[in-house]
Amino acid sequence: MYPAIPVTRTDKPKTRPQSEDSLGFGQIFTDHMFIMDYEEGKGWIDARIVPYGPIAMEPSAMVLHYGQAIFEGLKAYKSPEGETLLFRPRLNFERVNKSNARMVIPQVDPDFCVYALKELLRIDESWIPSAPDTSLYIRPFIIAMDPFLGVRPAYQYRFMIILSPSGAYYPQGLNPVDIYVEDEYVRAVKGGTGFAKTPGNYAASLIAQANAYKTGYVQVLWLDGVNRRYIEEVGSMNVFFVIDGKLITPALNGSILPGITRRTVLELAAALGYETEERQLAIDELADLYKQGRVSEVFGSGTAAVISPVGKLKYEDMIMEFNDGKIGEISQKMYDIITGVQFGRLEDKYGWIDKL
Ligand SMILES: *Cc1c(COP(=O)(O)O)cnc(C)c1O
Repeated sequence: MYPAIPVTRTDKPKTRPQSEDSLGFGQIFTDHMFIMDYEEGKGWIDARIVPYGPIAMEPSAMVLHYGQAIFEGLKAYKSPEGETLLFRPRLNFERVNKSNARMVIPQVDPDFCVYALKELLRIDESWIPSAPDTSLYIRPFIIAMDPFLGVRPAYQYRFMIILSPSGAYYPQGLNPVDIYVEDEYVRAVKGGTGFAKTPGNYAASLIAQANAYKTGYVQVLWLDGVNRRYIEEVGSMNVFFVIDGKLITPALNGSILPGITRRTVLELAAALGYETEERQLAIDELADLYKQGRVSEVFGSGTAAVISPVGKLKYEDMIMEFNDGKIGEISQKMYDIITGVQFGRLEDKYGWIDKL
């Protein structure tokens, strides 16, 4: 058991969103947030829950200059019975420590983080939306706070959790997206920070995303940074291919983010009797397999969308279309089962759910 976390309740509760049908994503924040600080020699101290609001920091705070930071993303769901459900939350805080190790940020206690998150959720539980497919997005993050312009790992950090009620990701149903193979920019390289959930990876990927939008695509397929040949991720999601009926995803190699949805898809597929494989997959090999009619489905996996089917993939002069541009059977099945368990509509056979 951990000591009680001191709570300062807001004396100005916010006006709630008018309707749960137009929440969007990441625009509205709840009444409270969790904070703890780290000081060299003292460790993580001063855990507290306070009203959501601006934080004071020095303009010289190291995170603003050198980007020493990590973040996480997970969701809380309302079950039909009105219970609050979390999906594998401990894995997110275990991943915090992997990201921290890479970014030279001190380790956290994952069990304490889950406890702190639950305490925060108990206070803002009424903010969790309950309209179909809506959820409360949870954003834990850590930033370097020292007021210092020299380059070194910081001595002071701040860990925070903020909460954002979010709308259905697919208000119109699961629409496959069109993507292209990014051949100019790379997201990450082996030895770099690709496996860590760190803001700089996103900063580096914005240009490709912006170019994709300009040309009518929704996302890019990232190739490895060395050979510019092996498939890594799609946008900010992991990627799966159904080839000869088997689910194939790129093997974790240091430049790929180890997604919790990726792991869930692999575990679920195996439990349902599908063959799965984590391996290197070259874009030219995929193109050959496609020409032979062996690639039936492609989808991205991540917390926000869960499953994001790919309709078309442009590679050089070739446009590959999967399953006639419609969501495939396996993609749909993965989506239905994972979201079914997340929202408490299906039995949690796999021990994924942590109830508040
Ligand atoms: C967060 C993230 C993912 C997906 O991870 P989940 O744990 O499934 O949400 C995939 N790729 C990148 C680059 C990410 O940042």
